[in-house]
Amino acid sequence: MPEASWSSRELLSASMAKQYAYCPVIPWIMAAMGFSEPPTPSMESGRLNAFQKEEIAAELRLPKPWRIEYEVVSSRLGLRGRVDIVAGGGPYIVVEVKRYARRVKRLGHFKAQLMVYALLVSDVLGPVREAILVVGRKPLVYTVTGGDLRRAARMVEETRRVLVSEEPPRTTARPEMCEYCWYRRLCPWRSL
Ligand code: SF4
Repeated sequence: MPEASWSSRELLSASMAKQYAYCPVIPWIMAAMGFSEPPTPSMESGRLNAFQKEEIAAELRLPKPWRIEYEVVSSRLGLRGRVDIVAGGGPYIVVEVKRYARRVKRLGHFKAQLMVYALLVSDVLGPVREAILVVGRKPLVYTVTGGDLRRAARMVEETRRVLVSEEPPRTTARPEMCEYCWYRRLCPWRSL
């Protein structure tokens, strides 16, 4: 087994928290076994460039200025992320863009990541009023509440705990979610 690849002093990435939201076992496998899913052709083709994100900002009529692919780091939260769009002069709007449409049941971890971005931006720039998830050009608009930010902060802490744990966490994934999971072959609960 490769050596654990994560140290508690590292900044946690928002995408790791997204993995946790999909299934807590995934970040544990990544840290404890040192494996991470290689990019698939659909991941590659699903990436939008900065120009396309600007087009989406225009379509959504977001307030300016637009910060595209905005790198945010909070040493206070021990957290980092790259937000597709941060719009306005405050309170801010954060936007995450997914090129392809997905079923609503499969959006939970993307929404969780979006709220982690809202947490990051509110810590670094100032209050965030809205978070928008664009899937297949359809915007899902969420008002960001104090409860959302507290839940995001809790999830970040839980992700951090999992990354340094010797034992795998219990899974929260439904069996059908495991069918799509690249980590299944390494999973202590659902290995083939
Ligand atoms: S196979 Fe299922 S339980 Fe295991 S890591 Fe993937 S989603 Fe989680």
